[in-house]
Amino acid sequence: MPGVSLPKFYIATSIPYVNAPPHIGHALEFVQADVIARYRRLKGDNVFLATGTDENSLKNALSAEKLGMKTEDLCQRNSALFRDLVDSINMSYDTFVRTSLKGDHWKMTQILWDACNASGDIYKKKYSGLYCVGCELFYAEGELDGGLCPEHRTKPERVEEENYFFRLSKYQDRLIAAIEKDEIRIIPSSRKAEVVNFMRSGLEDFSVSRSVNRAHGWGIPVPGDPSQILYVWFDALGYYLTAAGIASDRKAFNEMWPIDMHVIGKGIVRFHAIYWPAMLMSGGFEVPRSILVHGYITVEGEKMSKSIGNVVDPMDVIRKYGTDPVRYYLMKEISTFQDGDFSDRTLKDVINNELVGNLGNFVNRTLTFISSKLGGKVEKQKLGDEDMELVGQITGLVGEVERMLEAEQLNVALLKILEISNLGNRYFQNSAPWKLIKEDEAKAKKVLFICANICRILGILTYPYMPSSAERLLGYIHETPSSFEEAKKLSNEFKVEKPEILFSRAE
Ligand SMILES: [Zn+2]
Repeated sequence: MPGVSLPKFYIATSIPYVNAPPHIGHALEFVQADVIARYRRLKGDNVFLATGTDENSLKNALSAEKLGMKTEDLCQRNSALFRDLVDSINMSYDTFVRTSLKGDHWKMTQILWDACNASGDIYKKKYSGLYCVGCELFYAEGELDGGLCPEHRTKPERVEEENYFFRLSKYQDRLIAAIEKDEIRIIPSSRKAEVVNFMRSGLEDFSVSRSVNRAHGWGIPVPGDPSQILYVWFDALGYYLTAAGIASDRKAFNEMWPIDMHVIGKGIVRFHAIYWPAMLMSGGFEVPRSILVHGYITVEGEKMSKSIGNVVDPMDVIRKYGTDPVRYYLMKEISTFQDGDFSDRTLKDVINNELVGNLGNFVNRTLTFISSKLGGKVEKQKLGDEDMELVGQITGLVGEVERMLEAEQLNVALLKILEISNLGNRYFQNSAPWKLIKEDEAKAKKVLFICANICRILGILTYPYMPSSAERLLGYIHETPSSFEEAKKLSNEFKVEKPEILFSRAE
């Protein structure tokens, strides 16, 4: 783990179930978390980004049984697919936790269990309830939709047994206060209102274990009672503690905790905004500072589902269009907080119009011109009022990009970045440096000085979204994405290489 002289920023994705391979919605969450992580690094934070796979779910055991596989083999196989995805999508994660591997994560459950137990919040109770295996969640009759799970449209099963319970009800008032006062900031605020309303209707204790039998022998045993398996959410939520080093390096953990931001889908808000902070309060740990909630992705206007056969494999899309174009598309076309739609047609249009036609075109024209007509050299220029007006517009937009990124409005920030590229393109076109160079060389040099600076600024601003392309872009002007502050000022001297095509047309 890195040193701690810088402000720390601990961010994590949720960990997906591995009963099926990844779909495009997983890629969305990975890229969102990565954009925020990379932006924070540009701001100078000591960022720690965690991800992994949730492998102790009953769903995994049932899927494996259906496939005639050992559960550990299914987990290993599908977890590797998720790992391939986070690598292929170029997510800059610091740790990847697999929850079924005995080791730090299993030790974590003992620490968390003991801490909650010591607070008197774990007790045994006989009960009966309606359980959705898909959600790994008990539903009250009133929460069902025509008797079906609202998330899975399946009938929950009636379950009866003696389990351990967690005293969630005890934390209701403290939780409501923490969320209302934004000690746990829920983003966007519409989700905050939903959570508070849900809590006001009353919180019930929830079961944190099940019989070995009902768990099909799969999962982490309850500390001190091997006849029971930990409820999968109890261990899955604890992954955030595991990743920060609670069981491996307590000093590093104490410096990294609390987690600064969870990035999760709208279907698991209740677990992260209610169960999880309550477990942390009970265990004597600080609660998360913020929870960013994204929506779901439909495909060509329809809900993704195996039965319709329209599940989009993000690896296919990456192979076809490349990592950065896919990252760009997901961040720009899918609103950060709302549901969005994936469409192959739109993806192609976005690549061809915005990346190739706008950003790539501007960078390519500018740098090619400088390298061929100005010997690859740009020098400091005295700018007139008109030039300063354009520079002012650009720095104004950089400020807006920053404000939008601070508010986690990732798609809006990207629109502002595209506006900068638009301004650059228009300026290059209107100034016509290919004519100017013959008529007024001094003026041509000034135009290229400004255009080269816009390229540089675009390189820094697009880095969180398209890290490889941004690094290539900045490489052509002998720079690296070092700090966000650099995007707020002009650089006086450039050496420019002849660039290669930044983005290729999508066919
Ligand atoms: Zn369900």
